[in-house]
Amino acid sequence: MTRVLIVEDDPQLVRALTINLRARKYEAEAASDGTAALQLAAATPPDAVLLDLGLPDMDGLDVIRDLRLRSGVPIVVVSARSTSDEKIAALDAGADDYVTKPFSMDELLARLRAAVRRTETAAPAADDMRIVTTQGFTVDLVAKRVTRDGRDVRLTPTEWQLLELLIRNPGRLVSQKQLLQEVWGSSYGTQANYLRVYMAQLRRKLEADPTHPRHLITEPGMGYRFVA
Ligand code: CA
Repeated sequence: MTRVLIVEDDPQLVRALTINLRARKYEAEAASDGTAALQLAAATPPDAVLLDLGLPDMDGLDVIRDLRLRSGVPIVVVSARSTSDEKIAALDAGADDYVTKPFSMDELLARLRAAVRRTETAAPAADDMRIVTTQGFTVDLVAKRVTRDGRDVRLTPTEWQLLELLIRNPGRLVSQKQLLQEVWGSSYGTQANYLRVYMAQLRRKLEADPTHPRHLITEPGMGYRFVA
C-alpha cells in the first residue's frame, strides 16, 4: 500500500484528502504542522507527501528542504500561493509538482499517482523506455526519431533535447530552470524566453492544434509537462 503523508493545518481539507485517499486504497497519515510532519517522516518514511506551504510553525519550503536532505520521496505541494515566484521557489527547493488551491480532487490524485509512479519506475524506465506513442506522434528514444502520421519529423538538436527530457519524465512538471540548465547549460537558468520559442516550434511540428496543445503542456510560470 502507498503511504501518503498529508501536511496540512486545515482540518476540513485533511478530512477530505484522507477520505479520498483511503477510498483509493492509499494509506493516509496527517500532520498539522511542519515539526510533526518531519518527525513522522523520520519515524516511518512515507511513499509520497502532500504539502501545504502555509503552516503554523514553519514555512513549507523549509519542510521540502529538510525532507530532501534525507529522501527522494515525491512531494506534491498543495498551496494557495499562486504566483510564479512562489511556485518556482517550491520546485527549486525540491518539490515534484504543484497544485494550487482550490483544486479538483481528481487532478490532485492524478498528479499524486504520476509522482508515485515516477519514483517507483524511475531507474528501469530510463533504459526500458524506447518507443513513446501519443495520439499525434511517436518518438523512438533510441533511434532519436520522431514520426507523425507515418512521416518523419525533423527536429533540431535543441528541440530534440527538450522533447526527450520531457518525454523521459512523463506526466511530471519539469521546471523551466531544469529544462534550461539541462539543455542550454547552468548559466541559462532564467532565460524562459528561449523555452517559449523552442516549445512553440515543437508544438508546430508535433501538435495537431499548436495553440491548444494536448501533449506538450505549459504550466504557467513554472515549466512544462509531457502528457501522452
Ligand atoms: Ca495552511
